[in-house]
Amino acid sequence: MKVLFATSEIAPWVKTGGLGDVAAALPPALRQAGIDLRVLTPYYPAVRAAIPEARAPEVAKLGNFGGAYADSVLRAAFAPDGSRLLLLDCPAYFDRPGNPYLGPDGKDWPDNYLRFGLLSRVAAWLGSKANPFPWWPAVIHCNDWQTGLAPAYLKLSGDARAKSIITVHNLAFQGLFSEQTLPELGLPAHAWSMEGIEYHGYLSFLKAGLQFADAITTVSPTYAAEIQTDAEGMGMSGLLRHRADRLSGILNGIDTEVWNPKRDAHLPFTYDIATLAAKRKNKSALQQELGLTVRDDIPLFGVISRLTAQKGLDLVAALERQIADLPAQLAVLGSGDRELENEFRRLAEIHPGHFATVIGFNEGLAHRIEGSVDVFLMPSRFEPCGLNQMYSLRYGTPPVVRATGGLADTVVDDVNGFVFEEATAAALFTAIQRAHAAWHNRERWRAMQIDGMSRDVSWTAPAMQYAALYAKLKK
Ligand code: ADP
Repeated sequence: MKVLFATSEIAPWVKTGGLGDVAAALPPALRQAGIDLRVLTPYYPAVRAAIPEARAPEVAKLGNFGGAYADSVLRAAFAPDGSRLLLLDCPAYFDRPGNPYLGPDGKDWPDNYLRFGLLSRVAAWLGSKANPFPWWPAVIHCNDWQTGLAPAYLKLSGDARAKSIITVHNLAFQGLFSEQTLPELGLPAHAWSMEGIEYHGYLSFLKAGLQFADAITTVSPTYAAEIQTDAEGMGMSGLLRHRADRLSGILNGIDTEVWNPKRDAHLPFTYDIATLAAKRKNKSALQQELGLTVRDDIPLFGVISRLTAQKGLDLVAALERQIADLPAQLAVLGSGDRELENEFRRLAEIHPGHFATVIGFNEGLAHRIEGSVDVFLMPSRFEPCGLNQMYSLRYGTPPVVRATGGLADTVVDDVNGFVFEEATAAALFTAIQRAHAAWHNRERWRAMQIDGMSRDVSWTAPAMQYAALYAKLKK
């Protein structure tokens, strides 16, 4: 089974969100599952630095696409983990440093439709009968709006050899551009319709993918159901309901090598189920590191997050007095909205020794928080999949989560964490109180930790589900 995985991000080189991680972790797991997979991604400067041209020989010229990309080529290379890459080398579009979508002014590059239009077009071309290689993918696996046009190009070309899938990692980004881009993108005028790629007067890359792909997936089963509701469908719910028979949710996995409490170089003391007591030594080390009072008779709650409305952390801030009075401690690591950043800074000031706040992005501290705190808080308003609740399970840190998206699919209430329904401070506090009470019952707590640590949160099972979907499409 040959599959082309088309992506605009790939960790560790280019990553703005979950897609970058998935593009790095899913391909090796699919290879293990017997899939001959190649990852198509732009040859960004960060990728070029890691894989210079000498190691990425040219395999095809893309002159037939004309225009700005007359001198573009495809290069073949191996990622360090052995995954095969097809690098889209178009300097005019991709030889730009930093964020893949934003210019130095923090605004979208004005030619994003051409840049990701090309990426989509090359993906479709590789899945069509025009593909000149001896390698013919049976499935083109697209991701988010940036490769959303590929299923449209493929279907509209009339010369498709491959089937297509689009995976939605974030429904909020829909790739909207003006109608005038249609001819520049080489799309036929008849594609401009409600049953095509028009979306309320705009051309939408994401809608094109949702409309034309043979299968649609998103990153958790619950999120797949939620996005079909008007409340959470971000304007796409009607189309998603219409295509419900093609839509499914496949939960993301996590990198169980990077996130492994037994071999985590960021932790002062590593541990596993048999040596769980060592986690308490990490707790005192973290309390010292963050200037919290060192004590083990009250639970320490932790947060690692983007500080945005999506993550529901305003609900945590609203409970400052109740949390302090439990009593409990709180450690927050995050960055995002200025107001929330300032609010958590303020809370650390008025509850010294009890609350600590670190504003910024800090990978090492994120590991130490997971490996040290007693309870993790993730009260998201919506969460397509979420990673930190899975890290928490693996690190014996029962999470308190809201019953939404991937959180609802990974945390089992009262078994390995605490789940609440309403996005209100009152509902969150009830769950926090339950966690507080459970923590004081040593035996019960240990059983919850062990349950979470024993769950398989690796990419193995998700890869098997994707492989099964590829096989179904190929038939
Ligand atoms: P989202 O992609 O919506 O931000 P996820 O839970 O899916 O949320 O993934 C967030 C990832 O980013 C996790 O790996 C988390 O540990 C990491 N992260 C978020 N904020 C920080 C931070 N301030 N420092 C370190 N890691 C962070």
